[in-house]
Amino acid sequence: DPLEIMADYKYTIALPAPTLYLQYDVAKFGRDRIMTALKKIGFDYVYEVARGAEIVTEASNRYLQKHTETRPMISSACPAIVRLIQVRFPSLIDQIMPVKSPMEVSAANARREFCEKNAGIDPEDVGVFFISPCAAKLTSVRNPIEVEKSGVNGVFSIKSVFFKLLKQMGKIQEPEDILQAGYSGVRWSAIGGEAKGINSDYILYVDGVQNVIKIFEQLEDDKLKDVDFIEAAACPGGCLGGPLTVENMYVARARSFKLKSTLPKLLSDVEEVELHNSDFERMPEHLDVTTLDSDMTVAMQKLRRMEEIYSELPALDCGACGAPTCRALSEDIVRGNAKITDCVFVLKERVRNLAKEMMELEELLPPTLENRKG
Ligand code: SF4
Repeated sequence: DPLEIMADYKYTIALPAPTLYLQYDVAKFGRDRIMTALKKIGFDYVYEVARGAEIVTEASNRYLQKHTETRPMISSACPAIVRLIQVRFPSLIDQIMPVKSPMEVSAANARREFCEKNAGIDPEDVGVFFISPCAAKLTSVRNPIEVEKSGVNGVFSIKSVFFKLLKQMGKIQEPEDILQAGYSGVRWSAIGGEAKGINSDYILYVDGVQNVIKIFEQLEDDKLKDVDFIEAAACPGGCLGGPLTVENMYVARARSFKLKSTLPKLLSDVEEVELHNSDFERMPEHLDVTTLDSDMTVAMQKLRRMEEIYSELPALDCGACGAPTCRALSEDIVRGNAKITDCVFVLKERVRNLAKEMMELEELLPPTLENRKG
């Protein structure tokens, strides 16, 4: 989303994904400085999604303790993975952990906290914006899986705020004391960060769509029964490898290890009020591509269009566009929920072609005054 949509709201809240902190040199730019800079660029309030992640961990542990009949449960945090299950592994839908994502849990708690601290504010006047490492979050806000309507009003890429924050951080004398999360929440940015918070020794974490597919195939074959919890991320490396980040994922991961030694596990225990409404409002359903339209003729036309679009995509199934596979993106496009330039490879190709065309046009232009003087 463009940053300009903030102007549609009287008050604005930023929800920084934990990945944002690791885009900067952690020794120089602490979390408190980054959060203060978010306020400097126009947000009225900042709520750490890392805190939302801690709440989700608590809710997931309670669920696992209470419901022992189904194992393993699969994390619902990566929307591209939930989509993958809906499209390709419908028999695993009942194994999706029915706890909302840290983004949705954070949006609800941030709005509640802000309105409690500022009596008289209408929650409708508050715009909540997620600072995201990946495009899948934008899709999940527009077409939410676990809720009727997302609590998030817009999604900004980490890339779009990176330099704005950098510019502000250098000017901040005294960062505000506004941290909410400990290392348990911050570590969610890397693969394994979520699973390590689960109260079990039998956890599995896997990244990259192709690797996840292999694990899910084993699950369908009734293997892996001894595992309690699976964390799966579409992007290699987890959110740190998201396509909307700036820093190399390995550098960012090294910074995360550095933070571990300086942070307590939690800054405060999760309270009951924070857990309120953290369960799914509805379960995901099997997405059948043959149901493109109730009218069979239109459905067939859409199916043909889907095939055409698919033939233009690189068939890498990398998940960087937010859809788990290229075929899923072509379906999203046909349904009107995405565009072909959501594929990072198509976008790159188009930008390259555009630049080439501009250079060719420039050669046709008459010389400028400066050139003539030369
Ligand atoms: S459409 Fe592009 S970005 Fe999406 S999975 Fe396929 S190759 Fe990756």
